[in-house]
Amino acid sequence: MSGDPLVDSFGRTVRDLRISVTDRCNFRCTYCMPAEGMVWLPRREVLTFEEIHRLAGLFVERLGVDGIRLTGGEPTVRAHLPVLVAKLAGLRVPAGSASPLAGQPVDLALTTNGSTLRSMANELRAAGLARVNISLDTLQRDRFVAMTRRDELDRVLDGIAAAQEAGFSPVKLNAVVQRGVNDDEIVELARFAREQGVEVRFIEFMPLDADGRWLADDVVTQAEIVATIDAVFPLEPMPSRGAAPADRWRYRDGRGTVGVIPSVSQPFCADCDRVRLTAEGQFRTCLFATEETDLRARLRGGASDDDLVAAIRRAVGSKWAGHQINQVNFVRPRRTMSQIGG
Ligand code: SAM
Ligand code: SF4
Repeated sequence: MSGDPLVDSFGRTVRDLRISVTDRCNFRCTYCMPAEGMVWLPRREVLTFEEIHRLAGLFVERLGVDGIRLTGGEPTVRAHLPVLVAKLAGLRVPAGSASPLAGQPVDLALTTNGSTLRSMANELRAAGLARVNISLDTLQRDRFVAMTRRDELDRVLDGIAAAQEAGFSPVKLNAVVQRGVNDDEIVELARFAREQGVEVRFIEFMPLDADGRWLADDVVTQAEIVATIDAVFPLEPMPSRGAAPADRWRYRDGRGTVGVIPSVSQPFCADCDRVRLTAEGQFRTCLFATEETDLRARLRGGASDDDLVAAIRRAVGSKWAGHQINQVNFVRPRRTMSQIGG
């Protein structure tokens, strides 16, 4: 049964659902987690695959969502992830909907640190996963160890190759840029992506680090990133991004494209079409939201589909205009990136 699209009070239509499948991770990236002391959710508090599938089904079949991205924590550390992928890949966008995917399977993607893809890529692909984004912030082994607190660069690079061999299309790379940490590698990362035939998307560092050390000065802005690449590999802008978070450029020599996600310097809240579900079933209408809707309590309390749909519509109806990172009244969410699901 198809329903009305999810539209907030600012007229933005929700199309994209990010589902965190675990708060756990095998890395400890400095911009995301503390070195030690993360307290994981007890297993019983994490949504089961059946619960995730039920909620995802409502979003796709009744609320106009046509894209789902699995994230975390590190989604591939959740046991039996391909089983969940297979369940979600079976969801179809209703034939009568306005989506370009009407009548087709939902667009199913994964964001991962890439370290387990050599062993999992084929299975995920066979289960129906369409696309992967892999995080890669540096090509230098020592720096990789400093940034992720794990000596896994070779495994991540091999994971990128495995994703390509498994036939994912597109494979994209995500690189968070921090001033004085890896901003001297922007050109090298762009070069690597060009050579691999993948798109890298540079992400402005956001105040969601567990250690609370974020400073505005640490943010390397979109303008700086683009100028740095353009000086070596000339760029030209591509048409407007619509609701996608990345602005994109193509290389003038025709060898691919590059994206920048300017969350801090040029927030894209006015075009935002995303909502999020945390691993324990809290529904968030913004990465930076300070309020959540407890869908797990409703699920486990026997709520009907209509009750759940109504709760989701209410939450979206009160979605704010946007985060205020650049304003004095900005309030950091209590959760860090890994606890929200980036
Ligand atoms: N573990 C997976 C990964 O690293 O790709 C998925 C979860 S991770 C939280 C999702 C994305 O958020 C990654 O691309 C990561 O680099 C990014 N991220 C984490 N903390 C961030 C921060 N403080 N600012 C900007 N991006 C951040
Ligand atoms: Fe783990 Fe991803 Fe956070 Fe790094 S960014 S600590 S890989 S969840």
